[in-house]
Amino acid sequence: MTTPARYDVVVVGGGFAGSLVARALGDGGWRVLVLEAGTDGAEDATHTFQTTVAKTPTSALRANALVPSPDVLDLAGGPGGYTATGYLRQTGPLPYSSPYLRVNGGSGTAWTGLVPRMHPDDFGYHGVGRRWPLGYDDLEPYYRAAEREIGVAADVDEQREGVGLPFPDGYVFPMHGLPRTYLDDVLAEALDDREVSDPYLGGPTSLRVVGTPQARNAPPNRAYDGGRGFRPAGHRCAGYASCMPVCPEGAKYTPRRTQARWPSTVTLRTRAVVHRVARDEHGRVTGVAFRSYEPGSAGRHTVEEVTADLVVLAAHAVENARLLLMSGLADGSGQVGRNLMDHPALLTWGLTAAPTGPYRGPGSTTGIEGFRFGPGRRVRAPFRIEIGNWGWVWALGPPDRDVDELLAQNVFGTDLRRRLGERVGRQFALQFEIEQEADPANRVTLDPDRRDAFGDPRPVLHYDLSDYVKRGMAAAKRVSDQIFALLGAEDHTAYRPEPGMPGYFEFDGTPYAYRGAGHGAGTHLMGASAADSVVDAWQRSWDHPNLYLVGCGSMPSLGTSNPSLTMAALALRSAEHMDRELRAARRLTVTDVKENAPS
Ligand SMILES: Cc1cc2nc3c(=O)[nH]c(=O)nc-3n(C[C@H](O)[C@H](O)[C@H](O)COP(=O)(O)OP(=O)(O)OC[C@H]3O[C@@H](n4cnc5c(N)ncnc54)[C@H](O)[C@@H]3O)c2cc1C
Ligand code: SF4
Repeated sequence: MTTPARYDVVVVGGGFAGSLVARALGDGGWRVLVLEAGTDGAEDATHTFQTTVAKTPTSALRANALVPSPDVLDLAGGPGGYTATGYLRQTGPLPYSSPYLRVNGGSGTAWTGLVPRMHPDDFGYHGVGRRWPLGYDDLEPYYRAAEREIGVAADVDEQREGVGLPFPDGYVFPMHGLPRTYLDDVLAEALDDREVSDPYLGGPTSLRVVGTPQARNAPPNRAYDGGRGFRPAGHRCAGYASCMPVCPEGAKYTPRRTQARWPSTVTLRTRAVVHRVARDEHGRVTGVAFRSYEPGSAGRHTVEEVTADLVVLAAHAVENARLLLMSGLADGSGQVGRNLMDHPALLTWGLTAAPTGPYRGPGSTTGIEGFRFGPGRRVRAPFRIEIGNWGWVWALGPPDRDVDELLAQNVFGTDLRRRLGERVGRQFALQFEIEQEADPANRVTLDPDRRDAFGDPRPVLHYDLSDYVKRGMAAAKRVSDQIFALLGAEDHTAYRPEPGMPGYFEFDGTPYAYRGAGHGAGTHLMGASAADSVVDAWQRSWDHPNLYLVGCGSMPSLGTSNPSLTMAALALRSAEHMDRELRAARRLTVTDVKENAPS
């Protein structure tokens, strides 16, 4: 039997959080091994995307039957509810509708790249869900560190005034804010400083179209870093509008950019699926076992083991929980796998009065932020509104659908081109991302029957929306109705129990349908007490002092912003703690050796 290889740190998952932690610890001189379940996967991503018929977040991935990724096409709606036929088994009354990617770089290879900070209010407790053990001020320096690593383009004054975010004096983002699209300008012209009412609030809320921070390259800000400026990696965003799932310019941040900055102390092994985290009799974890495979090997693999002083699980909220459950670890509180959250997204869509030219630039460059905070969140879930630049693609599908409809009406030739331009050129959508509170009943468990290609249990998801969330959706729809009226837009929103709407439900007699935003969270949430949370404020397991669980799974609430910037800030903060712990352990060892040395 061979002795397992030994590292200072093993990181499970070469995605967003894992790549950041590996870089920080590698820079500290630690020997880090990153084990990634997926293939390398990036070489032919653009070609794969272009040649795939259905354009979904996973369509730049080559199919990997051994390590499949959940896809939006796994779900279908209908009059009797929904069906789920993919990698995830679903038992909830409603579906968990978000994909995640199991490939080197993880979900962050296909993400949209919107990186707003959480609002200070998001860290507070509002009578529902769970409490954060830290606040905005604790995270603020790490937000700045994450904005540097990712390369964020935004305008600090706009974020201060339009969102109410505090920044240190003199701070500017690495790059200037991305220019607004023409659609953004048209909406701002019609909506800024106008008021709408929220049925759960009574009083009016003022509207303002505000730029959304972007993880994609814009002109660098010379004032950044005390006048030293910023040098972006990759080209400048050129407006291809294919960012989700792939940016052919390399303008969008993906974790592979961080991987390219890893020092030589970091080693990556792809096609390495971790299936067990080992522990000793004192409760410390000792390393991991993983399955090493070749593509197309029909499940044949070899099992290898590595040992390490510290183990970091960064395999995504669902897979971290699965791995903990498979290993029987970290569950003193009984909360592992529970509190699964997402931002259920209510979409509304319509036609502007005059052409606004969608499909220029990223999926969303601005939003409306006024429903994120204030007293309303005690009664109904808060939300942020994304202004969608990509027509009706998320709501109903790409413009091919419009072509089919016109062809079915016998419209051909120049008439077809004219009618298509007239229709697609006026399409727009609003995306209401609703905060979902932690609910222990929404959870990941292990499938007792169905196994993956390696014989390991697959995840089972039980998911539902509370009335608090549904009230948030009802408020969002009422706000949308008023926005459409202010715009003089034709509203084409319709929710039906049909294949494209697995998230269909009725609330107070009104139909709704939601999509998943891809923001899986909460399955190993942090808290102030080992009795009711899985990790502490450093994302360290309460039960195993050298086991860290990073990613959105640690977040006790998702707040009202897209979560990855906060997740990245938390990861960088935790990496500092890991570094301190490793150094303290080394000092202890050296002292022990000296004290015990023969005189
Ligand atoms: C379509 C889409 C759009 C999104 N857009 C945005 C956005 O605009 N803004 C935002 O803030 N967030 C967005 N997100 C969310 C964002 O992508 C996630 O929050 C983030 O990627 C999570 O990072 P992670 O490191 O926890 O997981 P991932 O990035 O998913 O990485 C996990 C990694 O672990 C690997 N892995 C899994 N299991 C194992 C195992 N057993 N052994 C070894 N390796 C394993 C996986 O292959 C993967 O590489 C989006 C998500 C999706 C799907
Ligand atoms: S709009 Fe185009 S260039 Fe810009 S990030 Fe998206 S795909 Fe890349």
